[in-house]
Amino acid sequence: MKTYGHFIHGREIPAANGETFPSYAPMTGEILGHAARGTEADVEAAVSSARKGYEHWSSLPPYDRERILLKCADHVEANYDRLLNLLINESGSSIIKAKYEVLYTASVLRTAAGEVRRLYADTLPNEKPHRMSMVIREPVGVVLAISPFNAPLVLLAKMIVFPLGAGNAVIAKPSEETPLIAVELAKVMKEAGLPDGVLNVVTGFGAECGAPLARHPKVNGIALTGSTATGMKIGEIAIQSMKRMQLELGGKNPLLVLNDFDVNKAAEIAAVGAFTHGGQICMSSARIMVEAPNGRAFAEALAKKAASLHLGDLRDEKTAYGPLINQRAVDKVLRHVQAAKNGGAEILTGGAVHNGLVFQPTVIYNPPMSGPCWDEETFGPVAMVMEVPSFEEMIAIANESDYGLSAGVLTNDLVRGMTAARRIRCGSVHVGAHSFQSDPMAPIGGYGMSGIGRSGGKYSVEHFTELKWISLELGETPRPF
Ligand code: NAD
Repeated sequence: MKTYGHFIHGREIPAANGETFPSYAPMTGEILGHAARGTEADVEAAVSSARKGYEHWSSLPPYDRERILLKCADHVEANYDRLLNLLINESGSSIIKAKYEVLYTASVLRTAAGEVRRLYADTLPNEKPHRMSMVIREPVGVVLAISPFNAPLVLLAKMIVFPLGAGNAVIAKPSEETPLIAVELAKVMKEAGLPDGVLNVVTGFGAECGAPLARHPKVNGIALTGSTATGMKIGEIAIQSMKRMQLELGGKNPLLVLNDFDVNKAAEIAAVGAFTHGGQICMSSARIMVEAPNGRAFAEALAKKAASLHLGDLRDEKTAYGPLINQRAVDKVLRHVQAAKNGGAEILTGGAVHNGLVFQPTVIYNPPMSGPCWDEETFGPVAMVMEVPSFEEMIAIANESDYGLSAGVLTNDLVRGMTAARRIRCGSVHVGAHSFQSDPMAPIGGYGMSGIGRSGGKYSVEHFTELKWISLELGETPRPF
């Protein structure tokens, strides 16, 4: 069985103390390999490498960075099977989701390469007649990218490649549930020509190596995609050392089904929003509000669709989704279902484990509008459906959440759809679609407890560059004394 090292300065190296931890396949429980277990000593090595990488990378002409990122995109596609297989095994992704992740990773790389050409600067009009003013963008330096388990290739790629495009070096700290795919991505990018030190990967646990990396004075920016609880910890560290931070956190996302929309079609769309990757998606459509009088008809159509989903071999193209990541995740879903039952909700389908860590697609009708099943992120295949008397109340309920990541609005009425889009307080609203949408150019992020900052396209590049005002005196300016 393979033991993976950290990826530091272009090669795999074991942890300084020699410790490792296993990475499991959630579908079978089999150990896929062992990863280096990072501690402070490894953090020092990674930061030192990244500083050197930064000096070199940031001094390259932008077009060299563009060329290398484009080669990385080609090389990701050339290594499709290698990445796909590991991704399926390590994250328990269905083949449909894993294919999407690998191809999307190449697309994200190309988008970041394109952004390299758009690092525009400004010149400014001036109060002083003899002064010329310009504003330039500079990379922030070394950026730490801390990623979650649920889309461990593409989310990590997003957090890596946009800062790289802007001229930063990156240290990646992937989820302890999915360390191997991160090391493999770094190897693929090195093979494509990414210089040593520009991308380092330290594998291990949040408190043991994530937090020391975040605290390190020579790390200048932090991108975290993870839970709100982790975001709060990282936020504190970042503020204490005045680091640039981008936090993409949890969500409990509303899907509004207005009464002009066909309920059967709405159920088909909502099933994808709620059950993709077993609901382990930050933008999953977890709270579905159906305008009266269609609540029960929609809920029954969704339950029928849910009960028909194929849950089986991850490599079967018909399989909708696979296992949850671990037993803790299954226990949380069970707790939320139980809370809904205790609150008098109807379980229309599902509500139990299918087998192993695979949870049945679950549709819950009229859940209590408080408590864990309603307020907290379930991160499992559970759709809470409720009938709501009016459009106004749907908007009000959508805005009652502490989260504000994403929303969907199913309607054919453009005026009501756009009104909802304007009034729902969250980072993205999709009219005519469910809440789980992505695009490499789009600003992804949330309001409230869903995070701070936006990632994607020019928004990431802007986030991980410093603005500098440079002025030039072209003549004599009167002096006050
Ligand atoms: P998590 O917060 O448990 O872990 C995320 C990462 O943070 C891991 O790499 C972990 O090791 C690290 N970490 C944990 N504690 C740390 C600490 N004290 N210091 C430094 N690093 C630490 O999240 P998860 O369970 O891996 O992922 C699921 C969560 O991610 C969900 O809440 C989901 O909504 C969220 N998510 C958000 C988005 C988005 O775009 N907003 C996308 C995907 C996932």
